[in-house]
Amino acid sequence: MTKRIVVTGGAGYIGSHVCVELLSRGAALLVIDNLANSHPEAINRISELAPGDIRLIERDLANPAHKDDIVSAVREFHPDGAIHLAGLKAVGESVAEPAMYYRINLGATLTLVEALEAANARSLVFSSSATVYGDENANPVSETGRTAPANPYGRTKLFIEEMLKDIARADSRWRTVNLRYFNPVGAHPSGRIGEDPNGIPNNLFPFIAQVAVCKRKTLSVFGDDYPTRDGTGVRDYIHVCDLARGHAAALDYLDKQTTGCALDVNLGTGTGYSVLEAIAAFKRASNRDIPFSIAPRREGDVAEIYADADRAKKLFDWRADKSLEAMCADHWRWQSQNPDGYKS
Ligand code: NAD
Ligand code: UDP
Repeated sequence: MTKRIVVTGGAGYIGSHVCVELLSRGAALLVIDNLANSHPEAINRISELAPGDIRLIERDLANPAHKDDIVSAVREFHPDGAIHLAGLKAVGESVAEPAMYYRINLGATLTLVEALEAANARSLVFSSSATVYGDENANPVSETGRTAPANPYGRTKLFIEEMLKDIARADSRWRTVNLRYFNPVGAHPSGRIGEDPNGIPNNLFPFIAQVAVCKRKTLSVFGDDYPTRDGTGVRDYIHVCDLARGHAAALDYLDKQTTGCALDVNLGTGTGYSVLEAIAAFKRASNRDIPFSIAPRREGDVAEIYADADRAKKLFDWRADKSLEAMCADHWRWQSQNPDGYKS
């Protein structure tokens, strides 16, 4: 296990679960997060769940004025590697403000790469997304599937993947993995950390959870005329704690490599569930009504996508093992115990 890890975006939804996983394995963490989409309370809760060596520096990786501080802090930390989760992730916003998405997502990555170079630590796990895939791949989608992201957010992910591959090609001391997440959902089983979206949630699970807790009246199901088993969209939902374990497994893999590498690896379960199946499972887990109505399809949505998860199994000896029931039960525990997120 790599011992000293920089975690960018460590106060966020996925990052907080990654921090708990790494701390519980004895790692020391330097979190770099500007708290643009997260709350400092997340760091307190991480420490409560997994006491250990964690330090937050509140800096913006995309702001040139913060770069020197970041480079110094990383160098002084003497990291073995980094997990890079910081970035903007709202698809609609990326369509409206593409330049901002390219500047922040690519700029933040370059700052981190330079800081790691300066610290002589060339091991990097990057948060990519299944959104890099085009919509014509057959399911399950493997890493060799065609990439053709449908929006600027997805293109920032693909461009960063390519950037990291170029960097690894140019200098064989670099070992990088692009983790292509499918649909992360759920929360830590304690109910202490979880997803805390600002405003109206874009994603299905946080929306369902807010309907279940009566913060929103009704869920719109985007389309019931897809060529799927019940007409609604099918996705590969993966428990965020399984996902967090996948990051630790990726770091372990990089640790063992003696030469440079730049890999793409899916993190998914390999199973797809429809929107109606997800609603039914959440209803059972929460014992609450989830009123919904059928709405038009959402632009840019594919009918069905789920992962071929073989590469992660083969390379990392990792696979997701939490069920849809566990995802719903844990998501509900977080939502019901923290109806207003970390502000509750
Ligand atoms: P999140 O918004 O909860 O976490 C991102 C964190 O990065 C936040 O704490 C935010 O404050 C921080 N951040 C943003 N810009 C920053 C900057 N310039 N400098 C420093 N910190 C900054 O999002 P998440 O859901 O935890 O996602 C983490 C990563 O995983 C993102 O890169 C996202 O694109 C990727 N991803 C997420 C999903 C998903 O469904 N949640 C799916 C695929 C990929
Ligand atoms: N979805 C929905 N209503 C919502 C949000 C999402 O019906 O309020 C559907 C969406 O059309 C897709 C699935 O739920 O079929 C998952 O959507 P999400 O935004 O969570 O993930 P993504 O589309 O990015 O895979």
